[in-house]
Amino acid sequence: MVIASDYEFEMENYMSFEEFDKFKKFSIDKQTPFVMIDLDIVAKKYDDLSKAMPQSDIYYAVKANPEIEVLKLLADKGSFFDVATIYEIDRVLELGVDPSRLSFGNTIKKARDIAYAYSKGVRLFSTDCESDVRKIAENAPESRVFCRIIAEGIGASWPLSRKFGCYPDMAIEVLTLAHQLGLKACGVSFHVGSQQYYISQWREALWDVKIVFDGTAERGIKLDFVNLGGGFPVRYNHPIPETIAYGAEIMEYMVEVFGDDIPKTIIEPGRYMTGDSGILVTEVVQISKKEAGGGRSWMYVDTGKFGGLIETLDECIRYPIYSERTGKMIPYIIAGPTCDSADIMYEKAPYMLPEAIHEGDRLYFFTTGAYTTTYSSVYFNGFPPLETYILQKCKESQ
Ligand SMILES: *Cc1c(COP(=O)(O)O)cnc(C)c1O
Repeated sequence: MVIASDYEFEMENYMSFEEFDKFKKFSIDKQTPFVMIDLDIVAKKYDDLSKAMPQSDIYYAVKANPEIEVLKLLADKGSFFDVATIYEIDRVLELGVDPSRLSFGNTIKKARDIAYAYSKGVRLFSTDCESDVRKIAENAPESRVFCRIIAEGIGASWPLSRKFGCYPDMAIEVLTLAHQLGLKACGVSFHVGSQQYYISQWREALWDVKIVFDGTAERGIKLDFVNLGGGFPVRYNHPIPETIAYGAEIMEYMVEVFGDDIPKTIIEPGRYMTGDSGILVTEVVQISKKEAGGGRSWMYVDTGKFGGLIETLDECIRYPIYSERTGKMIPYIIAGPTCDSADIMYEKAPYMLPEAIHEGDRLYFFTTGAYTTTYSSVYFNGFPPLETYILQKCKESQ
């Protein structure tokens, strides 16, 4: 049975045809596959979010897209950075960013990596357990720490629940221990799950945050900030709420939960900041059928699950796919080029694309600026890692 996708690509939802032609002009001579990043879009996203959430400091989650040009642009705009490893710390500090603008947001850390971060001037750490607090107290004395609590992640396309955080009763213990060990217990964080469609998930999480604020206050520890995490969505093949709606609604929840004693907030957008800025360009390698009498069409393109599209796992993230061919649309199963049978992106719900597509055609995966290039494997089957080009640089070099 063919389950046809209910989705057909419409360019107007992403850019004008004029803009697309410009993009094509700079991408035409590049060998596929690659992602082309438009920095103007990253800048706009940053500005939109600053306007929507003026009370919150923005800590860009570097893992979403650590391209130097992206980091530079955000650093120039005054962004803070959520970093997860000593490597991300070095990458951001090498741009001349002051270490006071960094948050070591990974709750899973080696003692020597904490010491390294401390030696570089990092003084803000995320934690979620007593063992980690002891490591921080020993290797980064007197630093500020915030405790991550578990959020359920319902409504997120790419949930991050369970692995990180602890329940509020445990968070109270963790922060109390931090305080006793001479650290500055300063806040609570959560992540509602990546690509979160339901703004109300922030409300659920904030009520749990409040439990921790009250529990620590009873012990004489005054927390002063809430880290609202990431999770702000981008436009894949469904419309999403306006950025301004997120800001307004989350602030309403803050008032509901904290009354007139509203703590400072920070946010850690990753996907939101860079997702929309990228277009992944692939070439159709092969089109085939498995049965002599008909059956479904398989389309193999020159990148796949091991070439940056791992978020198609379980068909969680459905990228908008564009072909320049027109005419009758038929359902395709879309798969990657490697010799691993897991390398199928879309099969359960195939994509409707033009029947006229030929081998050698280019296919454009929109909204691929986040969580693609860094997930790409290194020479599996000999395929080189997914390349990135920066649109602005292409323009300059012409
Ligand atoms: C990955 C991550 C983020 C970014 O999440 P998005 O859903 O991409 O916005 C933010 N904070 C932490 C701690 C993360 O690990």
